[in-house]
Amino acid sequence: MREATEVLNFFNGAWSPSAGENTLQIVNPATGEKLADNPLGDAGDVSRVVDAAARAFPDWRRTPPGERVQYLFKFKQLLEEHFEEIARLTTLEHGKTLAESRGELRRGIENVEVACGIPTLMQGYNLEDVARGIDETMIRQPLGVVAAVTPFNFPSMIPLWFLPYALACGNTFVLKPSERVPLTMRRVFELLERLQFPPGVVNLLNGNREVVDALIDHPDVRAVSFVGSTAVARHVYRSAAGQGKRVQCQGGAKNHVVILPDADMPTTTRIVSDSAFGCAGQRCLAVSAAVTVGEAREPFTRSMAEMARSIKVGYGLEEGVQMGPVVSRESQRRIEGAIGRGASEGAEVLLDGRNPGIPNYERGFFVSPTILDRVPPGSETSRTEIFGPVLSLIHVDSVEEAIEVVAGNPYGNAASIFTGSGAAARKFRYEVPVGNVGINIGVAAPMAYFPFSGWKDSFLGVLHGQGRDAVEFYTEKKVVIERWPREWSRKF
Ligand code: NAD
Repeated sequence: MREATEVLNFFNGAWSPSAGENTLQIVNPATGEKLADNPLGDAGDVSRVVDAAARAFPDWRRTPPGERVQYLFKFKQLLEEHFEEIARLTTLEHGKTLAESRGELRRGIENVEVACGIPTLMQGYNLEDVARGIDETMIRQPLGVVAAVTPFNFPSMIPLWFLPYALACGNTFVLKPSERVPLTMRRVFELLERLQFPPGVVNLLNGNREVVDALIDHPDVRAVSFVGSTAVARHVYRSAAGQGKRVQCQGGAKNHVVILPDADMPTTTRIVSDSAFGCAGQRCLAVSAAVTVGEAREPFTRSMAEMARSIKVGYGLEEGVQMGPVVSRESQRRIEGAIGRGASEGAEVLLDGRNPGIPNYERGFFVSPTILDRVPPGSETSRTEIFGPVLSLIHVDSVEEAIEVVAGNPYGNAASIFTGSGAAARKFRYEVPVGNVGINIGVAAPMAYFPFSGWKDSFLGVLHGQGRDAVEFYTEKKVVIERWPREWSRKF
């Protein structure tokens, strides 16, 4: 079954076609079947959408927070009612399995739930008598029009890292989703339309780099949230910050897991396998390199190869399939190239997922689980984000060396350790220079009420997405210092 949808922008409370002339064909990555044409938009679209958002801001900011969140309570309800349908759309356009699409939508909805607490979260603080008879108060106010630019790999979850907080804080919001997966948000915005937000409060703008650049440059856009590759994150950060705008950019990743000999091998292998090959390795928190310490090497390598070999690859909508395709032919070729480069740099290709030939899905973009053993430290393979189902194995003799391997990587999104030793776990947690740490956890994904804390090349900015950081990001602080001398007032 196929759901072809016209990709439209949504602004001023209505749907509108893009004025841009170029289009990108959206295909189902498992079948190669065309799903839609995505018009890529131009600067004219950006002006129309941002102007609508700017006009809506004065009234929206005056809407009491308790009223603003009523829209979000209803939004959560609609997302629940349409949960399966949205998850299915994500699988159709992205390729991940239905279970994975459900998982990301669940994590997205959690952000809507957290943002419903804005009447409490957005409160400021105060102190009486900072000097005799003088009181001081900090209040938070919304910024104005804020924008988010999101990647292809979580079509439902990542936009929801931003949208609910931005709106609840009283900003008007423009979402520019990845041009490669426009259909999930198209459907979510149909639900938002039903909620009848005042026109211009919540807006959807499709397009690619040209639209992103015009969005950042628009004088009415006060803040930009970005998630995507590090190269683009740097560009967005430089451009927005250069114009004095508030900006947070989450970039790429190369996540390590360290396995100590005292880890429970069957459980560890199962968890690491899910982390490395879930979503076909296209998760910013996917484990990309496993570092075994001492005697963990042999049992982990053997058990990991067995586990990876057993993964059922296929169409994500089919029962029993554990891993879907990668998002595009281009990604498939890039990942296959990275596997070849790993071999030429001296790694042993323990499991080769190139050209897996999935029966009935010959036109799909499949790469099966791949393991590169003995990846040389410092090689390009050890440093570069592959963003596919490829796990590198690195073997060292001590926890110290393992931490050095993690620290030597330019990225700092996540790292995990598997061990029964509290002392080793504490040392790892204390020393490892990454922002999301897992201890006997494969995908160290913070809950919605904690910040998504990438470090180093995985994050540019100060305030992260989600939770209290999101509230800080989407509000401006204002401090009021008051003196009310009795003699200046009428006496009562
Ligand atoms: P991408 O950088 O290609 O695109 C992300 C967004 O930026 C898209 O909306 C795209 O239209 C826009 N864009 C692309 N090139 C641009 C340019 N030159 N100028 C302006 N805008 C541009 O990323 P992707 O391939 O969609 O997503 C995968 C990447 O995202 C991976 O590197 C992954 O690690 C990263 N990611 C990071 C996190 C995190 O939390 N750190 C989460 C998810 C994905």
